Amino acid sequence: MNIIKYRTHTCGELNTNNIGQYVILSGWIHNIRNFGYFSFLDLRDRFGITQLKINNQIYNTSVISNESIITIKGTVLERSKINENLYTGKIEVLVNKIKVLNDSKKIPIIIANKKNNESIRLKYRYLDLRSELLTNNIIMRNKTYIEIRKYLLNCSFLEIDTPILSVPTSEGARNFTVKYRFDQKYSYSLSQSPQIFKQLLMIGGFDKYFQFAKCFRDEDFRRNRQIEFTQLDCEMSFINSDEILKIFERLIIILIKKFNGENIKRIKRITYKEAIEKYGTDKPDTRYSLKFTNITKLVFNDNINIVKPKKQTIAIKIPFYFFKNNNNVYKSLIKTVKTNDIKIKDIVFISNNIVNKAKYNITKKIKNNIKKLVKASKKDIIVIFFDQNFLKLGKLRKTIYKTLRPKLKKKISPLWITKFPLFKQVNNKLKSVHHPFTAPIPEHIKYLKTKPEIVKSQSYDLIINGIEIGGGSIRINKKDLQKKIFSILGYSKQKIKVEFGFFLEALEFGTPPHGGIAFGIERLMSILTLEKDIKNFIAFPKNKYGIDLMCKTPRKIF
Ligand code: ASP
Repeated sequence: MNIIKYRTHTCGELNTNNIGQYVILSGWIHNIRNFGYFSFLDLRDRFGITQLKINNQIYNTSVISNESIITIKGTVLERSKINENLYTGKIEVLVNKIKVLNDSKKIPIIIANKKNNESIRLKYRYLDLRSELLTNNIIMRNKTYIEIRKYLLNCSFLEIDTPILSVPTSEGARNFTVKYRFDQKYSYSLSQSPQIFKQLLMIGGFDKYFQFAKCFRDEDFRRNRQIEFTQLDCEMSFINSDEILKIFERLIIILIKKFNGENIKRIKRITYKEAIEKYGTDKPDTRYSLKFTNITKLVFNDNINIVKPKKQTIAIKIPFYFFKNNNNVYKSLIKTVKTNDIKIKDIVFISNNIVNKAKYNITKKIKNNIKKLVKASKKDIIVIFFDQNFLKLGKLRKTIYKTLRPKLKKKISPLWITKFPLFKQVNNKLKSVHHPFTAPIPEHIKYLKTKPEIVKSQSYDLIINGIEIGGGSIRINKKDLQKKIFSILGYSKQKIKVEFGFFLEALEFGTPPHGGIAFGIERLMSILTLEKDIKNFIAFPKNKYGIDLMCKTPRKIF
């Protein structure tokens, strides 16, 4: 048998220490430059690129095409012209044997070009994976897994798999179902998350669990959403929410430092209520300030009531750095306000310059007090809004940022949001804000029946740059309370029995207090690298309609 040796080194490995050595390399032809007597060929594998020098008399390079796969043998030489950008840039290999292992047809996409039509890139994903961008991202994803594993294993977590052919967990999306072959009346649900199983692991005694879990959610299609994605899923027993946040704050800080370079000391925590009142959203982007200050009292305490009846009054300070290069800041602001459905007469600018014609006249004294309260410097602009709801102002805050596009001081700004309401109203029905296993805060249990809408939960979300990266909660560990929540959510007795009977029963056998969290791996990657498209971190993603253009699936299965 003729045994071929394909390589002694990778294409990213040789340097001046190897000069004079006889080596074997294999890889793809990245490009070929023909200089008459000699050709220079860049040979690429996932480790790097090595320059080959080929005597055209020995081998005619014009017969091979880019992206063909070859094996060569040759001697490592010092290069006359150094390429500082490559680890191998000080050497080249003078080739004396070359074998084409598999020729490549003309490549239908230009590799390493993000601007390629996305459908073509997805159709030829295996070619696009050869690009520097995707190679680096997939390698980085791998390194992130290693870092996470290292940290969690060090904190005594155990990595445990849970089923994918599973049961519905009421995670808020539709389920994908798989028919049971022996009885078509029955189906499995593809796991939306390991929620129930990780809680059962706590009941089974496996305190401190984690897994990189595949999750399947049949949600409405949106850009940058995948129906199949990965979560770092964790659960712990005998723990409170403060302890959980501390463990994962450290992990997130380590990952940000390692993969983004930013040095974050602490991750601030604010409650859901504060988030809404300060930023008008539960997912605030805190790379920039534009915080709201409620000045209702200040404005109305000053005997000179400028508005009747008393209306909620909010001030937003726009710091000078937001508009220092914009000569038309007022025009931009007025346009932004209008496009956000707020009437110009309901706002007042406080600044050194022009002021809109508002229907309210604020006295000088109040103006000075407002400036003091929001700590405005002379050059900042303060905009005052009368009678506007927080969510509307939250959208406006975002558009002010997008319109003025200031240079940001922080690249990454993580924030914990805590104590979400337990329920939200959707079409006159109560739904869980997180999921039905989330524990209410103990002081609010008494309101569950009478005023469920005011009940807060022991929950938390991690928001980075305005994007939800993870979330979790302390769970309910008593059967009666869990049952009560199911019935408040309107689940029928039948549904409770059939879907959750086994789980309710498990809660009766010494269930420890427990809680956990899960992070979206692709979103986390995209934030760490500031690379927007989550598909760039998935080897084989689906398009925005959930279609795999390469395998052409979903399709009829014969
Ligand atoms: N299972 C939850 C989710 O997927 C996370 C958690 O509560 O731990 O959002």
